[in-house]
Amino acid sequence: MVETLRNHIDGPWEEAADGGRFEVVNPATGEVIATAPDSKAPDVERAIDAARRAFDEGMWWPGTPERERGRILLRAAEIVHRESERLARMEALDSGKPIAEARDDIAEVAYCFEYYGGWATKIRGDVPPVGPEALSIVVKEPVGVAAGITPWNYPLLQAAQKVAAALAAGCTFVLKPPEQTPLTCLELPKILEEAGLPPGVLNVVTGFGETAGAPLVASPKVDKVSFTGSKEVGQIIMRSAADTLKRVTLELGGKSPNIVFADADFAAAVEGSCNGVFWNQGEICSAGSRVFVERRIYDDALAAMAEHARKVRLGDPLEEATTMGPLVSREQRDRVERYIAIGMEEARLAAQGERPTDPRLSGGYFVPPTIFADATNDLTIAREEIFGPVMTVIPFTEVEEVVRLANDNEYGLAAAIWTRDITKAITVARALRVGTVWINGTQAAPVEAPWGGYKRSGIGRELGEAGLEDFLETKHVYVELGG
Ligand code: ADP
Repeated sequence: MVETLRNHIDGPWEEAADGGRFEVVNPATGEVIATAPDSKAPDVERAIDAARRAFDEGMWWPGTPERERGRILLRAAEIVHRESERLARMEALDSGKPIAEARDDIAEVAYCFEYYGGWATKIRGDVPPVGPEALSIVVKEPVGVAAGITPWNYPLLQAAQKVAAALAAGCTFVLKPPEQTPLTCLELPKILEEAGLPPGVLNVVTGFGETAGAPLVASPKVDKVSFTGSKEVGQIIMRSAADTLKRVTLELGGKSPNIVFADADFAAAVEGSCNGVFWNQGEICSAGSRVFVERRIYDDALAAMAEHARKVRLGDPLEEATTMGPLVSREQRDRVERYIAIGMEEARLAAQGERPTDPRLSGGYFVPPTIFADATNDLTIAREEIFGPVMTVIPFTEVEEVVRLANDNEYGLAAAIWTRDITKAITVARALRVGTVWINGTQAAPVEAPWGGYKRSGIGRELGEAGLEDFLETKHVYVELGG
């Protein structure tokens, strides 16, 4: 059955004004599973106006008592829990990720609402001392109408972390979900309105980047854009946002180093290094795709990683035994295959997993896990973000050498370090120019802690208290007391 999705603007569910629709595909089979409104500027404009009214008229969403805003988010968390299996299956079907990983994502979505629901009542200002003649009161206020433009790799989670923080802060919101995977994002307004969110506070408009995303960024009625996606689109958004001096938060790409020292717990380092680039089909902005291995254990580690790659089970994302699904789209598969072809020229193919054999999946966009070895840090496959299950392994000898190589990349999102030497771990962690460092682990992004990039991996932070700050303005009220 092909589902007919609709926009959610100011409460009702709507078609795009010009009636345009686009197809949403199951990446495991290539079959169309839904159609969604191909929204254009007039649709986006109406969503912005709804969010504007909900923010401005009597300031009624930002003016809603904090405890009520918090309760709505906490109720939303409960509803996500109640609906978790249905949402996880929808996410796996639409994005191609294995069902077990989709379940983890949905649990995080619920926790995101719980966490920011708690924050709604705890946003506070400051009273800095300015002498006996005056009183300074610093208050935090919502930034206004916020727009979220999100990618397809963690469709609901990426949206939820922006929406939950923004609503807790008192912002109203327009969400433009990714065109490849809009299904779960359109569940968000249902969940929040059941939780008690008034219409107009959260609006969702589907469509393509240039036609539905760009007018959101250009609109003078939008105060802030929170974007997660590619570096190239991040640059376009920042340029466009300059015209209206919009606040921007950009979560962009990465080419994250994963450093394995010879003194690491070998089994944990091998498994973690593989998971860091094979989980979610490698479609992770912080994927540890540049794997540096100390020469003393290089041959053994490479052999163990190759063994791991061969055991990854590609298949139907909805089957429990599947550990890797298809890439999200034909375009993404083609892009990753182009990089694999480049890798074949530049480096040595050390391992490649098996495609699924099930004939039902013959039209799916599967790319088996692939490991290139004996690479150097200047190769294309070591410099550019591939966003697929492709690992580039580079040997090193000295600590200083690996720090220099790890930092020698335009991105700075995350890094993993595997060692039993705590001094070395902390020293290297401090020397790396990245937003997150994992020591003896990989890919953890707890809702409580800040997430974001150095260098060309982005601007601003999401998650944690920092994620809330990005949706707040600071106002200073100065009261003269003297003479
Ligand atoms: P990905 O490689 O993850 O698809 P993109 O950066 O292309 O990353 O897309 C991320 C999000 O940005 C999607 O929702 C997409 O529709 C949107 N987008 C793409 N181009 C633009 C643009 N010019 N203006 C605004 N949004 C855009």
